[in-house]
Amino acid sequence: MERPVRVRFAPSPTGPLHIGGVRTALYNYLFARRHGGAMILRIEDTDSQRFVPGAEQYIMDSLRWCGIEIDEGVGVGGPHAPYRQSERRAIYLKYATELVEAGWAYYAFDTAEELDALRREAEARGEAFAYNYAVRGRLATSLALPAEEVRARIERGDQWVIRFRMPENEVVKMDDLIRGHVEVNTSTLDDKVLYKSADALPTYHLANIVDDHLMEISHVIRGEEWLPSLPLHYLLYRAFGWEASRPEFAHLPLLLKPTGGGKLSKRDGDKMGFPVFPLFWTSPTTGETAHGYREDGYLPQAFINMLALLGWNPGTEQELFTMQELVDSFSLDRVSKSGARFQPDKARWFNAQYLHRMNEQELAALYQPILRAHGIEVADEVAGKAAGIMKERAQLLTELWDLTSFFFVAPDTYEEKQARKYWKGQNPAILAELRGVLASIDDFSLENTERIVRAWIEERGYGMGQVMNTLRLALVGAGKGPGMYDVTAFIGREECLRRIDRLIATLQPGE
Ligand code: GLU
Repeated sequence: MERPVRVRFAPSPTGPLHIGGVRTALYNYLFARRHGGAMILRIEDTDSQRFVPGAEQYIMDSLRWCGIEIDEGVGVGGPHAPYRQSERRAIYLKYATELVEAGWAYYAFDTAEELDALRREAEARGEAFAYNYAVRGRLATSLALPAEEVRARIERGDQWVIRFRMPENEVVKMDDLIRGHVEVNTSTLDDKVLYKSADALPTYHLANIVDDHLMEISHVIRGEEWLPSLPLHYLLYRAFGWEASRPEFAHLPLLLKPTGGGKLSKRDGDKMGFPVFPLFWTSPTTGETAHGYREDGYLPQAFINMLALLGWNPGTEQELFTMQELVDSFSLDRVSKSGARFQPDKARWFNAQYLHRMNEQELAALYQPILRAHGIEVADEVAGKAAGIMKERAQLLTELWDLTSFFFVAPDTYEEKQARKYWKGQNPAILAELRGVLASIDDFSLENTERIVRAWIEERGYGMGQVMNTLRLALVGAGKGPGMYDVTAFIGREECLRRIDRLIATLQPGE
């Protein structure tokens, strides 16, 4: 019988979730949904030194914004609760000691100073120190010390750790759903710490394997940086006798810098002006902040679409996918082995595609908070209409204000270049005349105003460009904006007249 698909996203709350982490969550989610399985959120917070307050909430807020739903886990609950490893600490010691009893692990009593000294000695010989088969038999370990002494040290409260006893010179054969068959000789690996008495907590490796087993995880989908840990994880499954239910593994390719080489970092984002985090972040300890896609004006649908294609391809030319379409087409065998280069322009392109396809109602919902932040209180229809007129020129939601502010706020200054060009000669007089024409129009709809004004311009023999650009100076205050009749219809007759009066009253015409 096929085992039920159960995947987990298992972040450590050590800071804001990087977009690489969001992609890992997304692929887990797509895989779960594709196979009718469960998506679990487990918080791996056993490294108390790297714990950052607020990071867990940030992770949950990010997933929610992205539309990645959690079936079981922190914030949701479920049959394997608790899902926060710090709340599961009672579980792990038993498993660690079980491994010691079975000969798969041992106690080590080395102090930090002793380990430092060993490292320095090795360095002096031009070597790197490894805690492994070559040294464990002659250091302060339960493999070297008499049993009574080990017991005595533990009883008197000496600090100890439990280390995995990595076999010597054995080839571990592993299969990865993305990388294929991988073999590693254990002599290249060291004896990782599994448990620390100092804080009565397991390390990542032990907690991760124990929890994946207890939570009946079927597939581990995670970043490539964990591939070097895979031999240890395989051996832990063997040591516990859990090989039959060992999950399958899929290690996702790295997200690379826009320039190619190396892992995408916050510094690349700062340098090139794009966020590497989903949401804005303020560090609770240093106060340092980081840009987020949400605050920078990206739509979650576009963000997710862009991320899905960074490392996975559908095998077709299709680029735009709803979440449901992603679920329907996702498969791990179309995830690439090589790193995926992040392209900031492509991220903006995706956003523009989504923005341009939105109707006025959808735009209103997104634009209203931005308008309110600028002190503008208008009906949804008005907000949606303004955004709708200008959406084609925007890639990001945040660009809409600059593109539409003149709809809501009369200009109080005039762009110099534009003023110099048009606020001179006949134009002020013509604008005064146009004011009269506009004042006489009752049906101020776009079409009617355009018809009447055009006829008047033709009849008087004025230059169309001169008149319209002078009107633009009055209504917009600059050389930007949509067609003039979009503006007149939007702001209405009285406001048009007021803005014309203001220009005439405040700006001295040039020569
Ligand atoms: N806590 C690990 C992380 O932060 C999880 C790795 C895994 O998925 O096994 O990435």
